[in-house]
Amino acid sequence: MPSLALERVVLGLGGFVLLLILETLCPFRRLVESRWHRYVINVFIAGSNALVLNVVLGGTIMAAYALVEERHLGLLHQLGVGPWGNVILTVIALDGFTYWWHRAYHGVPVMWRMHRVHHSDRDLDVTTSGRFHLTEMILSAIVRFGIVVLWGPLVAAVVIFEIVFGLFNQLEHANLQLPERLDAWLRWVVVTPAMHRVHHSQVPEHTNANYSTIFSWWDRMFGTYRVVTEQRAIVIGLPQYPQPGDVTFGKVLAMPFGPSCQARSQLDGRRLPSPLIA
Ligand SMILES: [Zn+2]
Repeated sequence: MPSLALERVVLGLGGFVLLLILETLCPFRRLVESRWHRYVINVFIAGSNALVLNVVLGGTIMAAYALVEERHLGLLHQLGVGPWGNVILTVIALDGFTYWWHRAYHGVPVMWRMHRVHHSDRDLDVTTSGRFHLTEMILSAIVRFGIVVLWGPLVAAVVIFEIVFGLFNQLEHANLQLPERLDAWLRWVVVTPAMHRVHHSQVPEHTNANYSTIFSWWDRMFGTYRVVTEQRAIVIGLPQYPQPGDVTFGKVLAMPFGPSCQARSQLDGRRLPSPLIA
């Protein structure tokens, strides 16, 4: 199978630019904060993550994935699953793993310190899709490699998963709204912007729901699916950081380490009533 490196870059940048144009031309919600203030922070974080994970560590990560393929490590190789079966099962399995991994970021205090950087954004648009602290990105990359060794995907299957995952990540953070019936229909299978917007609400019962990234069925299956019909009433962000001064460039980068992060989040460990289907 091909390496798909070019496709990954073109689709990743192409999706970002297309959604940025669409949400600038027809935004669903009015932004509460200066667009450029957030753009600088989010694009810097996304850019430095890309530099470290793709340029500095990218070769090592891909070489490690290639070693798994060459040595026929993992379950799928042992079962002799063919290339297309390998791709389909890998996309589903890694998305399912990411659902539970995302729940861990909300439930484990030291992980929430990292993930709160993403949730501290007071608006939601395509640039939020890159706002993950480098510590979270590196931890996730290490754990994902462990999962890959156990699961046994082809290198191309992992790259296809990362392309699809990246596009859904961008789409569901975009400041766009699909027609209501189309959105409701799509939500039976995949995550939409309206579904993921709920996850960025300041209300804990909303934040601790809708963890899925590609397939929405994980939330339905495990009792964390929630629909909020009054989408314009959702207040985005975290109650601990209500002002622009709480989420300056320096404060966002220091969020996992700073003194203001020593207390366990008020949102951590909240139990959800189940099932959460409104
Ligand atoms: Zn989250």
